[in-house]
Amino acid sequence: MSVELDLSKKPAQSGPANLAGLANLAGAGREGLRQAMVAAGVEDKKARMRATQLWRWIYHYGVTDFSKMTDVAKELRGVLGERFVLERPDIRAAQTSVDGTRKWLVGYGPNVEAECVYIPDVGKAGALCVSSQVGCTLTCTFCHTGTQKLVRNLSAAEIVNQVMIARDALEEWPTSNEDRRLTNIVFMGMGEPLYNLDNVAEAVDTIADGDGISISRRRITVSTAGVAPKIPELGARTGAMLAISLHATNDDLRDELVPLNKKYDLKALFDAIRAYPDLSNSKRVTFEYVMLKGVNDTLAEAKDLVKLLKGVPSKINLIPFNPWPGTRYECSDWETIEAFAEILNRAGYASPIRTPRGRDILAACGQLRSESVKEKASERLKKRLAEKETQ
Ligand code: SAH
Repeated sequence: MSVELDLSKKPAQSGPANLAGLANLAGAGREGLRQAMVAAGVEDKKARMRATQLWRWIYHYGVTDFSKMTDVAKELRGVLGERFVLERPDIRAAQTSVDGTRKWLVGYGPNVEAECVYIPDVGKAGALCVSSQVGCTLTCTFCHTGTQKLVRNLSAAEIVNQVMIARDALEEWPTSNEDRRLTNIVFMGMGEPLYNLDNVAEAVDTIADGDGISISRRRITVSTAGVAPKIPELGARTGAMLAISLHATNDDLRDELVPLNKKYDLKALFDAIRAYPDLSNSKRVTFEYVMLKGVNDTLAEAKDLVKLLKGVPSKINLIPFNPWPGTRYECSDWETIEAFAEILNRAGYASPIRTPRGRDILAACGQLRSESVKEKASERLKKRLAEKETQ
């Protein structure tokens, strides 16, 4: 598993760049914290224990200041404060929908931004939809994020920091097991999580850790457009719940809607799904199916869907298409969606129609996008030269 903590006094790799150039420990994994302790001069054999103390302060209490860590020796607190920070990334915009959905535009550096969304009344209390990449390499034709090229993968710490921001906003520190408002995490924001699996797996470990944020793996869902070879590995490494963005029941249509299907067709996808560890009635795969008017919403397709899912413990999530500026698709009519759902229900599938949430602030499924673009190498060079000249 990759450890991305930069322990030198350069800007942190694992978190937001800090003005003073100190490494950021917020979002770090256990091994990253242990290394930080060694770098701060703690003896090797005591480093793990000290890291555990720090872990509780960061992920159970949510503190952003070393001086609050009252059970850490004063001297060590001082050293930590000189070398490290515990900072959240910038929140560049925060919006609340009329339905209570909240969206944050999180800044990870100049021109590197990703969105995350808190949706109340999902799961036991509320779900946070996190991004795993800035932009996306996939080009699903109905998805707004798909119109934004990949800028870069988010590090594990940057993913974890989306959860930290939400817990700050919901005032959910210290971690409590009662009356939580944030109970579920879904990797359904920007990006394809299975193209950033190392960092996603490390982030899941941090979020699920019972001494910290403590959101159990059963309440963490990772959604993929179908990177077949990585699907069983996702299960083995994270124990998370699996969601598949299916959207079509035959290869021709799926090739068009989710071009990744040309690489991993339905057969390859379903072989991989069947190999997901521990599938059972209590651990089912969620299939997401976006309802596109006149494209994939006939009743014959509902019946095909039932056939396709045979033998796979499944739930189906029908997602009314969420429009975005410039899209060529429309959402299916409500009666069509209900008739489609009825066929699935009769075949024994729970198939809730996902109520669109946060559409007014472009926070609903597939509407996320940021303005970030990857700088061309030539632009980076130009900037570096300009910086040199001003030094
Ligand atoms: N790349 C991953 C993670 C993104 S999840 C994946 O594809 O699963 C986001 C979910 O919203 C996916 O199921 C996606 O297909 C769906 N989606 C994308 N655009 C949408 C839109 N405009 N309306 C409704 N759902 C959409």
